[in-house]
Amino acid sequence: MRVGAVRAGMSVEVTCYDCGDSYALADRKRCECGEPLWIAGDVTAFDPDDGAYGVGRYGDLLPVDPVGVGTGTGGTPLVRTEGLDDVVGCRLHVKDEGENPTGSFKDRGSAVGVAYAHERGANRVGTVSHGNMAMSMSAHAASVGMGCVVLVPARIPPGRLGLIAQYDPDLVQAEGDYGRLYYEALEAGPALGVEFVNSDTPLRVAGQKTVAFEIFEAFGGVPDGVVLPVSSGGHASAVWKGFRELERAGVADRVPPLYFVQAAACDPIAQAYRNGDDEVTPVEPGETIAFSIANGSPPSGNRALAAARRTGGAVLSVPDDEIREATDRMARQAGLCVEPACATPVAGLRHLSADGAVDDEAEVVAIATGTGFKELGGEADVDAATVAVSDLERELGSAL
Ligand SMILES: [Zn+2]
Repeated sequence: MRVGAVRAGMSVEVTCYDCGDSYALADRKRCECGEPLWIAGDVTAFDPDDGAYGVGRYGDLLPVDPVGVGTGTGGTPLVRTEGLDDVVGCRLHVKDEGENPTGSFKDRGSAVGVAYAHERGANRVGTVSHGNMAMSMSAHAASVGMGCVVLVPARIPPGRLGLIAQYDPDLVQAEGDYGRLYYEALEAGPALGVEFVNSDTPLRVAGQKTVAFEIFEAFGGVPDGVVLPVSSGGHASAVWKGFRELERAGVADRVPPLYFVQAAACDPIAQAYRNGDDEVTPVEPGETIAFSIANGSPPSGNRALAAARRTGGAVLSVPDDEIREATDRMARQAGLCVEPACATPVAGLRHLSADGAVDDEAEVVAIATGTGFKELGGEADVDAATVAVSDLERELGSAL
Protein backbone atom coordinates (compact mmCIF):
# COMPACT_ATOMS: atom_id res chain seq x y z
CA MET A 1 0.00 0.00 0.00
CA ARG A 2 1.26 3.43 -0.88
CA VAL A 3 2.34 5.50 2.11
CA GLY A 4 0.80 8.96 2.32
CA ALA A 5 -0.81 8.71 -1.12
CA VAL A 6 -2.06 11.88 -2.77
CA ARG A 7 -4.29 10.07 -5.24
CA ALA A 8 -8.01 10.81 -5.21
CA GLY A 9 -7.49 13.99 -3.25
CA MET A 10 -6.19 12.25 -0.11
CA SER A 11 -4.25 14.60 2.11
CA VAL A 12 -0.72 13.67 3.11
CA GLU A 13 -0.14 13.39 6.84
CA VAL A 14 3.08 14.78 8.24
CA THR A 15 4.45 14.19 11.72
CA CYS A 16 7.10 15.58 14.07
CA TYR A 17 10.05 13.28 14.85
CA ASP A 18 10.43 15.01 18.20
CA CYS A 19 7.02 15.60 19.81
CA GLY A 20 4.95 13.27 17.61
CA ASP A 21 2.28 15.83 16.61
CA SER A 22 0.65 15.32 13.21
CA TYR A 23 -0.72 17.69 10.59
CA ALA A 24 -1.83 17.77 6.96
CA LEU A 25 1.06 18.57 4.61
CA ALA A 26 -1.04 21.20 2.87
CA ASP A 27 -1.36 23.06 6.18
CA ARG A 28 2.12 22.93 7.64
CA LYS A 29 5.74 22.17 6.78
CA ARG A 30 6.99 22.64 10.35
CA CYS A 31 5.59 21.57 13.73
CA GLU A 32 4.06 23.91 16.31
CA CYS A 33 7.06 22.98 18.49
CA GLY A 34 9.35 24.53 15.88
CA GLU A 35 10.88 21.32 14.56
CA PRO A 36 10.63 20.14 10.94
CA LEU A 37 7.99 17.61 9.87
CA TRP A 38 8.25 14.52 7.68
CA ILE A 39 5.68 12.33 5.99
CA ALA A 40 3.98 9.88 8.35
CA GLY A 41 2.91 6.33 7.57
CA ASP A 42 3.23 2.82 8.88
CA VAL A 43 5.91 1.05 6.93
CA THR A 44 5.13 -2.63 6.95
CA ALA A 45 6.84 -3.85 3.78
CA PHE A 46 9.75 -3.11 1.47
CA ASP A 47 8.84 -4.26 -2.00
CA PRO A 48 10.81 -2.40 -4.72
CA ASP A 49 9.22 -2.20 -8.16
CA ASP A 50 11.67 -3.88 -10.52
CA GLY A 51 9.84 -2.34 -13.47
CA ALA A 52 10.67 1.22 -12.42
CA TYR A 53 14.00 3.07 -12.41
CA GLY A 54 15.73 4.80 -9.50
CA VAL A 55 13.50 6.73 -7.12
CA GLY A 56 10.45 5.20 -8.84
CA ARG A 57 11.49 1.72 -7.61
CA TYR A 58 10.28 2.74 -4.17
CA GLY A 59 6.89 4.14 -5.22
CA ASP A 60 5.13 2.20 -2.46
CA LEU A 61 7.03 4.23 0.13
CA LEU A 62 6.52 7.58 -1.61
CA PRO A 63 3.43 9.80 -1.84
CA VAL A 64 3.67 9.92 -5.67
CA ASP A 65 5.49 8.34 -8.58
CA PRO A 66 8.14 10.53 -10.25
CA VAL A 67 7.34 12.30 -13.54
CA GLY A 68 9.47 13.97 -16.22
CA VAL A 69 13.20 13.86 -15.57
CA GLY A 70 12.30 12.47 -12.14
CA THR A 71 11.77 9.10 -13.83
CA GLY A 72 15.51 9.13 -14.58
CA THR A 73 16.55 10.16 -11.08
CA GLY A 74 18.33 7.97 -8.54
CA GLY A 75 19.75 4.57 -9.33
CA THR A 76 23.23 5.98 -8.77
CA PRO A 77 26.24 3.66 -8.48
CA LEU A 78 27.80 2.51 -5.24
CA VAL A 79 31.50 2.42 -6.07
CA ARG A 80 33.94 0.27 -4.10
CA THR A 81 36.87 2.68 -3.76
CA GLU A 82 39.74 0.47 -2.62
CA GLY A 83 42.24 3.19 -3.50
CA LEU A 84 41.00 5.26 -0.58
CA ASP A 85 40.96 2.53 2.07
CA ASP A 86 44.38 3.43 3.41
CA VAL A 87 43.41 7.10 3.53
CA VAL A 88 40.22 6.60 5.53
CA GLY A 89 41.23 3.56 7.59
CA CYS A 90 38.29 1.35 6.61
CA ARG A 91 36.78 -0.41 3.59
CA LEU A 92 35.19 2.47 1.70
CA HIS A 93 32.26 2.51 -0.72
CA VAL A 94 31.22 5.81 -2.34
CA LYS A 95 27.60 6.44 -3.30
CA ASP A 96 28.09 8.66 -6.33
CA GLU A 97 25.13 11.04 -6.28
CA GLY A 98 26.79 13.20 -8.93
CA GLU A 99 25.31 10.74 -11.45
CA ASN A 100 21.83 12.22 -11.02
CA PRO A 101 20.29 14.30 -13.87
CA THR A 102 21.56 17.65 -12.56
CA GLY A 103 24.61 16.21 -10.84
CA SER A 104 23.51 16.14 -7.22
CA PHE A 105 21.46 14.27 -4.61
CA LYS A 106 18.97 17.14 -4.70
CA ASP A 107 17.29 15.51 -7.71
CA ARG A 108 15.72 12.84 -5.49
CA GLY A 109 13.78 15.38 -3.44
CA SER A 110 12.95 17.48 -6.48
CA ALA A 111 11.56 14.38 -8.22
CA VAL A 112 9.04 13.84 -5.43
CA GLY A 113 8.31 17.53 -4.82
CA VAL A 114 7.60 18.29 -8.48
CA ALA A 115 5.58 15.08 -8.96
CA TYR A 116 3.44 16.00 -5.95
CA ALA A 117 2.76 19.51 -7.27
CA HIS A 118 2.09 18.10 -10.75
CA GLU A 119 -0.36 15.52 -9.38
CA ARG A 120 -2.27 18.25 -7.60
CA GLY A 121 -2.47 20.44 -10.68
CA ALA A 122 -0.20 23.20 -9.36
CA ASN A 123 1.45 25.27 -12.05
CA ARG A 124 4.46 26.45 -10.03
CA VAL A 125 6.97 25.10 -7.60
CA GLY A 126 9.70 27.01 -5.85
CA THR A 127 12.85 26.79 -3.78
CA VAL A 128 15.35 28.88 -1.84
CA SER A 129 18.81 28.04 -3.14
CA HIS A 130 21.69 29.40 -5.12
CA GLY A 131 23.29 26.10 -6.00
CA ASN A 132 22.48 22.45 -6.59
CA MET A 133 18.89 22.60 -5.35
CA ALA A 134 18.05 25.60 -7.53
CA MET A 135 19.35 23.79 -10.62
CA SER A 136 17.59 20.63 -9.66
CA MET A 137 14.15 22.12 -9.00
CA SER A 138 14.34 24.20 -12.18
CA ALA A 139 15.20 21.15 -14.28
CA HIS A 140 12.51 18.91 -12.82
CA ALA A 141 9.85 21.61 -13.19
CA ALA A 142 10.94 22.32 -16.77
CA SER A 143 10.67 18.64 -17.64
CA VAL A 144 6.90 18.67 -16.98
CA GLY A 145 6.22 22.18 -18.29
CA MET A 146 5.79 23.65 -14.83
CA GLY A 147 7.02 27.05 -13.66
CA CYS A 148 9.67 27.32 -10.93
CA VAL A 149 10.46 30.26 -8.68
CA VAL A 150 14.07 30.30 -7.48
CA LEU A 151 14.98 32.73 -4.72
CA VAL A 152 18.70 33.47 -4.79
CA PRO A 153 20.76 35.94 -2.73
CA ALA A 154 21.35 39.42 -4.14
CA ARG A 155 25.01 38.62 -4.75
CA ILE A 156 25.73 35.37 -6.53
CA PRO A 157 28.60 34.48 -8.90
CA PRO A 158 27.42 34.91 -12.54
CA GLY A 159 28.72 31.47 -13.50
CA ARG A 160 26.51 29.81 -10.93
CA LEU A 161 23.50 31.88 -11.94
CA GLY A 162 24.07 30.75 -15.52
CA LEU A 163 23.95 27.09 -14.54
CA ILE A 164 20.54 27.63 -12.94
CA ALA A 165 19.24 29.92 -15.69
CA GLN A 166 19.70 27.34 -18.45
CA TYR A 167 16.43 25.69 -17.30
CA ASP A 168 14.62 29.08 -17.52
CA PRO A 169 13.12 29.36 -14.01
CA ASP A 170 11.77 32.63 -12.58
CA LEU A 171 14.98 33.81 -10.91
CA VAL A 172 14.41 36.30 -8.11
CA GLN A 173 17.28 37.91 -6.23
CA ALA A 174 16.38 38.55 -2.58
CA GLU A 175 17.85 41.41 -0.58
CA GLY A 176 18.15 40.94 3.19
CA ASP A 177 18.53 38.00 5.56
CA TYR A 178 18.90 34.99 3.26
CA GLY A 179 18.63 32.53 6.17
CA ARG A 180 15.23 34.01 7.08
CA LEU A 181 14.06 33.55 3.49
CA TYR A 182 13.68 29.78 4.02
CA TYR A 183 10.87 30.43 6.52
CA GLU A 184 9.34 33.41 4.70
CA ALA A 185 9.01 31.40 1.47
CA LEU A 186 7.22 28.54 3.24
CA GLU A 187 4.81 31.06 4.78
CA ALA A 188 4.14 32.87 1.54
CA GLY A 189 3.88 29.79 -0.71
CA PRO A 190 0.22 28.80 -0.24
CA ALA A 191 -1.15 32.29 -0.93
CA LEU A 192 1.05 32.58 -4.01
CA GLY A 193 0.09 29.13 -5.28
CA VAL A 194 3.72 28.04 -5.16
CA GLU A 195 4.72 24.69 -3.62
CA PHE A 196 8.06 25.53 -2.03
CA VAL A 197 10.26 22.45 -1.75
CA ASN A 198 13.06 23.76 0.44
CA SER A 199 16.07 21.93 1.83
CA ASP A 200 14.36 19.82 4.49
CA THR A 201 10.64 20.01 3.70
CA PRO A 202 8.63 16.77 3.96
CA LEU A 203 8.46 16.07 0.20
CA ARG A 204 12.20 16.63 -0.21
CA VAL A 205 13.00 14.34 2.70
CA ALA A 206 10.65 11.73 1.18
CA GLY A 207 12.59 11.71 -2.08
CA GLN A 208 16.00 11.86 -0.48
CA LYS A 209 15.34 8.89 1.81
CA THR A 210 15.52 6.66 -1.29
CA VAL A 211 19.32 6.88 -1.16
CA ALA A 212 19.17 4.72 1.98
CA PHE A 213 17.07 2.14 0.13
CA GLU A 214 19.58 2.03 -2.74
CA ILE A 215 22.53 1.65 -0.38
CA PHE A 216 20.71 -1.17 1.41
CA GLU A 217 19.95 -2.96 -1.86
CA ALA A 218 23.39 -2.45 -3.45
CA PHE A 219 25.16 -3.35 -0.25
CA GLY A 220 23.01 -6.37 0.38
CA GLY A 221 22.29 -5.20 3.90
CA VAL A 222 23.17 -2.46 6.36
CA PRO A 223 26.76 -1.13 6.20
CA ASP A 224 28.83 -0.55 9.34
CA GLY A 225 28.43 3.19 8.94
CA VAL A 226 27.18 5.89 6.57
CA VAL A 227 28.99 9.23 6.31
CA LEU A 228 27.68 12.33 4.56
CA PRO A 229 28.09 16.11 4.55
CA VAL A 230 25.51 18.01 6.58
CA SER A 231 24.20 21.50 5.84
CA SER A 232 20.48 22.18 6.47
CA GLY A 233 20.12 18.75 8.06
CA GLY A 234 17.52 17.71 5.47
CA HIS A 235 19.66 15.04 3.80
CA ALA A 236 20.84 13.71 7.15
CA SER A 237 17.20 13.46 8.27
CA ALA A 238 16.27 11.65 5.06
CA VAL A 239 19.01 9.02 5.35
CA TRP A 240 17.92 8.44 8.96
CA LYS A 241 14.26 8.12 7.93
CA GLY A 242 15.08 5.74 5.08
CA PHE A 243 16.98 3.31 7.30
CA ARG A 244 14.32 3.62 10.03
CA GLU A 245 11.68 2.60 7.50
CA LEU A 246 13.74 -0.43 6.46
CA GLU A 247 14.02 -1.41 10.10
CA ARG A 248 10.30 -0.91 10.67
CA ALA A 249 9.48 -2.92 7.56
CA GLY A 250 11.43 -5.76 9.16
CA VAL A 251 14.00 -6.08 6.36
CA ALA A 252 16.91 -4.38 8.18
CA ASP A 253 17.90 -5.48 11.67
CA ARG A 254 19.28 -2.08 12.63
CA VAL A 255 19.91 1.49 11.55
CA PRO A 256 23.62 2.05 10.85
CA PRO A 257 25.58 4.70 12.76
CA LEU A 258 25.20 7.95 10.83
CA TYR A 259 28.19 10.30 10.75
CA PHE A 260 27.72 13.86 9.54
CA VAL A 261 30.57 16.16 8.53
CA GLN A 262 30.71 19.97 8.30
CA ALA A 263 33.33 22.45 7.23
CA ALA A 264 35.08 23.89 10.29
CA ALA A 265 34.36 27.43 9.09
CA CYS A 266 30.62 26.83 9.52
CA ASP A 267 29.87 23.95 11.86
CA PRO A 268 26.91 24.76 14.15
CA ILE A 269 25.68 21.13 14.30
CA ALA A 270 29.14 19.77 15.08
CA GLN A 271 29.55 22.40 17.79
CA ALA A 272 26.29 21.34 19.42
CA TYR A 273 27.37 17.70 19.21
CA ARG A 274 30.73 18.42 20.82
CA ASN A 275 29.13 20.53 23.55
CA GLY A 276 26.52 17.88 24.36
CA ASP A 277 23.69 20.30 23.52
CA ASP A 278 20.25 19.16 22.37
CA GLU A 279 19.74 22.24 20.25
CA VAL A 280 21.85 23.81 17.56
CA THR A 281 22.83 27.43 18.10
CA PRO A 282 23.14 29.41 14.84
CA VAL A 283 26.59 30.71 13.87
CA GLU A 284 27.83 33.35 11.45
CA PRO A 285 29.14 31.32 8.47
CA GLY A 286 32.83 31.75 7.70
CA GLU A 287 34.43 31.39 4.26
CA THR A 288 34.99 27.81 3.11
CA ILE A 289 35.63 26.00 -0.17
CA ALA A 290 32.72 23.76 0.83
CA PHE A 291 30.34 26.71 0.32
CA SER A 292 27.37 24.51 -0.57
CA ILE A 293 27.20 23.19 3.01
CA ALA A 294 27.91 26.48 4.78
CA ASN A 295 24.53 26.84 6.49
CA GLY A 296 24.92 28.84 9.70
CA SER A 297 21.30 28.36 10.78
CA PRO A 298 20.28 24.83 9.71
CA PRO A 299 16.48 24.35 9.79
CA SER A 300 16.88 20.62 10.49
CA GLY A 301 19.96 20.97 12.66
CA ASN A 302 18.31 19.55 15.78
CA ARG A 303 16.91 16.62 13.80
CA ALA A 304 20.35 15.84 12.34
CA LEU A 305 21.81 16.00 15.83
CA ALA A 306 19.17 13.53 17.03
CA ALA A 307 19.91 11.25 14.06
CA ALA A 308 23.62 11.13 14.87
CA ARG A 309 23.07 10.52 18.59
CA ARG A 310 20.26 7.97 18.32
CA THR A 311 22.12 5.87 15.73
CA GLY A 312 25.40 5.86 17.64
CA GLY A 313 27.06 8.09 15.06
CA ALA A 314 28.65 11.51 15.44
CA VAL A 315 28.89 14.99 13.95
CA LEU A 316 32.32 16.42 13.24
CA SER A 317 33.94 19.20 11.27
CA VAL A 318 37.09 19.42 9.18
CA PRO A 319 39.23 22.39 8.07
CA ASP A 320 39.50 23.52 4.46
CA ASP A 321 43.01 22.18 3.92
CA GLU A 322 41.79 18.68 4.78
CA ILE A 323 38.73 19.11 2.54
CA ARG A 324 40.98 20.23 -0.32
CA GLU A 325 43.27 17.25 0.17
CA ALA A 326 40.31 14.84 0.32
CA THR A 327 38.87 16.32 -2.91
CA ASP A 328 42.20 15.73 -4.65
CA ARG A 329 42.52 12.21 -3.29
CA MET A 330 39.02 11.28 -4.45
CA ALA A 331 40.02 12.26 -7.98
CA ARG A 332 43.56 10.85 -7.92
CA GLN A 333 42.96 7.67 -5.95
CA ALA A 334 39.36 6.82 -6.85
CA GLY A 335 38.72 8.58 -10.19
CA LEU A 336 35.82 10.56 -8.76
CA CYS A 337 35.29 14.26 -9.49
CA VAL A 338 33.36 15.73 -6.58
CA GLU A 339 32.66 19.21 -5.32
CA PRO A 340 34.63 20.04 -2.15
CA ALA A 341 31.57 19.70 0.10
CA CYS A 342 31.33 16.04 -0.95
CA ALA A 343 34.89 15.31 0.09
CA THR A 344 34.12 16.17 3.72
CA PRO A 345 33.08 12.55 4.50
CA VAL A 346 36.49 11.28 3.36
CA ALA A 347 38.23 13.96 5.41
CA GLY A 348 35.98 13.20 8.39
CA LEU A 349 36.51 9.44 8.18
CA ARG A 350 40.22 9.89 8.77
CA HIS A 351 39.38 11.37 12.15
CA LEU A 352 36.79 8.71 12.93
CA SER A 353 39.27 5.90 12.24
CA ALA A 354 42.04 7.68 14.16
CA ASP A 355 39.65 7.94 17.13
CA GLY A 356 38.69 4.27 16.86
CA ALA A 357 35.06 4.90 15.88
CA VAL A 358 35.59 2.78 12.75
CA ASP A 359 38.22 0.09 12.23
CA ASP A 360 40.01 -1.14 9.13
CA GLU A 361 37.57 -4.02 8.63
CA ALA A 362 34.50 -1.75 8.76
CA GLU A 363 32.44 -1.49 5.55
CA VAL A 364 31.54 2.18 5.36
CA VAL A 365 29.53 4.14 2.78
CA ALA A 366 30.38 7.77 2.07
CA ILE A 367 27.74 9.71 0.15
CA ALA A 368 29.33 11.96 -2.48
CA THR A 369 26.45 14.38 -2.81
CA GLY A 370 27.38 16.19 -6.00
CA THR A 371 29.65 16.28 -9.02
CA GLY A 372 32.68 18.52 -9.20
CA PHE A 373 32.18 19.21 -12.90
CA LYS A 374 30.09 22.32 -12.16
CA GLU A 375 32.94 23.82 -10.18
CA LEU A 376 35.80 23.46 -12.61
CA GLY A 377 36.87 26.67 -14.25
CA GLY A 378 40.00 28.62 -15.05
CA GLU A 379 41.49 28.55 -11.59
CA ALA A 380 43.03 25.07 -11.59
CA ASP A 381 46.75 24.90 -10.93
CA VAL A 382 47.83 22.57 -13.72
CA ASP A 383 51.33 21.29 -14.44
CA ALA A 384 51.57 20.20 -18.10
CA ALA A 385 54.60 19.81 -20.36
CA THR A 386 54.61 20.97 -24.01
CA VAL A 387 55.77 18.74 -26.87
CA ALA A 388 56.04 19.07 -30.66
CA VAL A 389 53.76 16.76 -32.68
CA SER A 390 56.51 16.38 -35.29
CA ASP A 391 58.95 15.02 -32.71
CA LEU A 392 56.54 13.30 -30.38
CA GLU A 393 58.49 10.20 -29.43
CA ARG A 394 61.63 12.06 -28.31
CA GLU A 395 59.89 14.97 -26.62
CA LEU A 396 57.21 12.89 -24.94
CA GLY A 397 59.88 10.50 -23.73
CA SER A 398 61.75 13.32 -22.02
CA ALA A 399 58.59 15.02 -20.76
CA LEU A 400 57.34 11.98 -18.86
ZN1 LIG B 1 6.93 18.82 17.24
